[in-house]
Amino acid sequence: MPTCALAHETDWTGWRRATRGYVLARIEPADLSWTMGRGGDAVPETAGTFTLSRALVSLAAQAFQAREAERFGLLYTLVWRAHHGGLDLGDAGDLDLRIARRWALAVRADAHRMRTMVRFAQVTVDDQPHFLGWYEPDHFVLEANTRFMARRDPPGRFTIVTPDGTAHRDQDGLRFGAGLKHPGDDDTLLAWWDAHRDALLRDAHAGGGLPEAEELDEVPRPLDRPALGPVVLAERQTSATRELAREARGCERCALHRPATQTVFGEGPRDARVLFIGEQPGDQEDLIGRPFVGPAGQLLDEALEEVGIDRRRIMISNAVKHFKFNARGRRRIHQSPSPGEIDICRFWLDAERAAANPALLVLLGGSAGRAVLGRPVTVTRERGRPFSLPDGGTAFLTVHPSYLLRQPDEASRAREYAAFVRDLRAVKELINHGSE
Ligand code: SF4
Repeated sequence: MPTCALAHETDWTGWRRATRGYVLARIEPADLSWTMGRGGDAVPETAGTFTLSRALVSLAAQAFQAREAERFGLLYTLVWRAHHGGLDLGDAGDLDLRIARRWALAVRADAHRMRTMVRFAQVTVDDQPHFLGWYEPDHFVLEANTRFMARRDPPGRFTIVTPDGTAHRDQDGLRFGAGLKHPGDDDTLLAWWDAHRDALLRDAHAGGGLPEAEELDEVPRPLDRPALGPVVLAERQTSATRELAREARGCERCALHRPATQTVFGEGPRDARVLFIGEQPGDQEDLIGRPFVGPAGQLLDEALEEVGIDRRRIMISNAVKHFKFNARGRRRIHQSPSPGEIDICRFWLDAERAAANPALLVLLGGSAGRAVLGRPVTVTRERGRPFSLPDGGTAFLTVHPSYLLRQPDEASRAREYAAFVRDLRAVKELINHGSE
């Protein structure tokens, strides 16, 4: 059985070359193994060529970045099948395609998260301001994502450190170097930077690139560009909420745990003073395990950006931690949690609030309103004004962003979006005037 050795985790160029060679040499997926580093067999130099659909190449380029050991083989299988006429990209039941799409979805979510979560400390390199940030990605998104970020922010000089690699962008262009295990707190990161800066910049190289993934990410999104500023990023979850999230994984307090994939807990920096609370994870959140990464989350990002609330400084969670849905064929249709389910799951929200201790709660929709205020709320009547909470904090009620997505036409969508933005401006006022 031949073994194909790739140079590193994101050796897209090497994988494509090997895939072409082995497919043309008629090596079946089951007869080929993949490894990393040295020791592989020479790729066959078989004459011939074949083409793949743009959609398949785009899917492969994204799924290739997933932190999944089997991805090289599975993507080879897809290419093999496409070449032999045995792949229908429209077949929603195809298991190989479903796995690849799930990986691609997780990669996109992680890339989006990196663009919104990474925060930078300003340091000086060669008398020039340089921004230093830390991010711990779930997948191998550093390279393709940093290329995108570099294009979106042409003049900035920055370094992003991750456990998988380091990206530098300065007057010499964009280069990549070795990664680093978690540097610890912000001071440790800065001290580490002082000690290793010269060697890092010297050893950086241009990298192989994932051009297809890069092109696919050309779809404009309001929050794609990281805001450079004198702030070092915080972790997605504090140790207290991480502990709670771990504990809740086995929760069986209500029936919602049965069909759902996983619990989805809140995320935000450890110093967040504002907690946004939605209803429950949606389809994508359930698969990925993170709150507000689907269409409603992207709309929320857009509105936050418009009013100047930095998502990286707030915590975001849900009233209910499992996705409730109706299965219709292969589709999972959202169902609102019942008042009883909200009340039962409030146990976790209360624990999360106690751990994070935010001064301001922004309640997105009726389920969040019920979970916090302990009574039914009529969002249209009660939205847009602050409530004093018995524990001394403040709550502010507005609609859930999915309400905007459900509007029947463009005019009502625009009207409701404008009202939502108005509410968020009021939230910003509360933040500025000390409710945080
Ligand atoms: S929805 Fe909440 S209470 Fe119900 S099982 Fe999930 S975590 Fe537990």
